[in-house]
Amino acid sequence: MIRENIRDVLEQIERAKASSGRQEEKTELIVVSKTQPVDRIMEAYEAGIRDFGENKVQELTDKYEQMPKDIRWHMIGHLQRNKVKYLIGRTALIHSVDSFRLAQEIHRESLKAGLVTDILIEVNVSGEESKFGVPPEEAAALAEAAAALSHVRVRGLMTIAPYVSDPEKTREYFRLLKKLSVDIIQKNIDNVSMEILSMGMTNDYIVAVEEGSTHVRVGTGIFGMRSLDASFQ
Ligand SMILES: *Cc1c(COP(=O)(O)O)cnc(C)c1O
Repeated sequence: MIRENIRDVLEQIERAKASSGRQEEKTELIVVSKTQPVDRIMEAYEAGIRDFGENKVQELTDKYEQMPKDIRWHMIGHLQRNKVKYLIGRTALIHSVDSFRLAQEIHRESLKAGLVTDILIEVNVSGEESKFGVPPEEAAALAEAAAALSHVRVRGLMTIAPYVSDPEKTREYFRLLKKLSVDIIQKNIDNVSMEILSMGMTNDYIVAVEEGSTHVRVGTGIFGMRSLDASFQ
């Protein structure tokens, strides 16, 4: 089941790239493994997946300890500053940086560990109050401020589109994030790259890829429905 779902999602990604003229560009599949037990995650690993997304620090670090060390763990959930220290050295990319104070903490802990940590700026493109992330108009300033910290590296932007039953309705939000990344590139800020656009989930990843996503985060589409109480953030 998991193996077939992975194959289907990868096929859909290729199809979306072809239909939007993005064949030459890379799109990575991050399999969102939150709430999934290690044996099910191992099925995805055995099918060739090395990028996994988690939204809780404790769960990520537990799985880091138990699972093969060539896995790249992505922190995709809201991150509290007091938990940053557990994450450094165990995560390939933190997708959810939404304040300078959080970036500073990641810098401080990375400096202590002698590492540089890759981060994305999370942007709330829809303005929904329930969502984390900076407003679009503050993203460039946060990217610039974070880029001045020697032990973090700003690699791009991340967003979560509103959940709507018709994924076509998410297109405008993905366009907005793409345009924002182009605007930030044009500012030519030292040490800021916009090579990563983390956007698209089970419901909307095809639209996101058509609009330029480089990293989609798919959970339900691989593992099936999570139990409701653990479903989101
Ligand atoms: C849970 C989660 C996902 C995956 O959602 P699915 O709808 O199960 O694909 C992606 N991104 C974030 C930030 C999440 O919290």
